[in-house]
Amino acid sequence: MASATLQIDLDAVLANWRVLDALSGAACETAAVVKADAYGLGAARVAQALMRAGVRKFFVALAEEGAALRQGLGEAPEIYVLSGHMAGDTEMIGDLGLTPMLNSLEQVTRHFEALPDTPFGVQLDTGMNRLGMEAGEWAAVAPIVIGAGPKLLMSHLACADEPGHAANAAQLAEFHHLTDGTGVPRSFAATGGILLGRAYTFDLTRPGIGLYGGAPFAAAHPVVRLSLPLVQVREVLAGETVGYGCAWRAAADSRIATVAAGYADGLLRALSGRATLYANGTPCPLVGRVSMDLITVDVTHLGDLPDALDILCPEQGIEALASAAGTIGYEILTALGGRYTRRYGGGTA
Ligand SMILES: *Cc1c(COP(=O)(O)O)cnc(C)c1O
Repeated sequence: MASATLQIDLDAVLANWRVLDALSGAACETAAVVKADAYGLGAARVAQALMRAGVRKFFVALAEEGAALRQGLGEAPEIYVLSGHMAGDTEMIGDLGLTPMLNSLEQVTRHFEALPDTPFGVQLDTGMNRLGMEAGEWAAVAPIVIGAGPKLLMSHLACADEPGHAANAAQLAEFHHLTDGTGVPRSFAATGGILLGRAYTFDLTRPGIGLYGGAPFAAAHPVVRLSLPLVQVREVLAGETVGYGCAWRAAADSRIATVAAGYADGLLRALSGRATLYANGTPCPLVGRVSMDLITVDVTHLGDLPDALDILCPEQGIEALASAAGTIGYEILTALGGRYTRRYGGGTA
């Protein structure tokens, strides 16, 4: 049986990067965030395409991700590690030339002791209370740390997807307060921050989700198509039920297609009875429960049956599928499982 196919349009990723780069302004460099295997799409392939388009800086969450990316990209690009320099990371950071974004006094001490001559950046907390040094800690060590020549000072916005949220301006003011006059390059904006405008972009922006076609970048080109092959088609008589829990009952004689993907592939069980699949653009309702490896779909109204039904496609992007599941596009993408055949198109620019 053919496995489900995840098509990834690298030209769309590059087009999204170029728009976000233009929005970041001429004086600002635009990096790319490829943590979590480029949000599930394949970090090496995505980053190689972005590198060919001129991207020189990449962000990952973990040193292990940075190590894998270094193998795929070679020595040239800078790879920043958002979790900083954790215990056990020293060898990887040193040997592979990763740049940890130090986020606590403990990490600063660890890095300065273990790898005193290797590059680093610093993460500052401006109100999100997740990662980064707070104002008091920073004040205590800023002269020493800045003297050691950090590559970058950065912070992260908690509410950038809500342009009117008061936290945005408050975090911006705090970031200025912590970093003005340091002379060190600064990075503040991810996708949402870029869309807030030039006051937020500083020297380097760090888009992730916008590259992959997700909100809040509403004008993004869609990047993924996910096609699920039909395993079987059956006639279900009026009154019969389909799937676990007999959760769906046919109101009339129906034709039900069973397609090969389920919640083990990231098609969340919360989509049960709520999602729509598409037969060359024609909507077909998902019926009954999503099971581990299979989904059942009402195709009664179709004339010719296609070989596969799409669950991500131009008619239903990651945000539309996310809202059917009660989640966000980030979770839909990063949940996409390892069983799909990933096919890449474009990306040669
Ligand atoms: C994930 C992440 C990003 C990218 O955010 P998007 O919203 O996907 O653009 C940037 N910076 C940090 C610190 C992150 O954790």
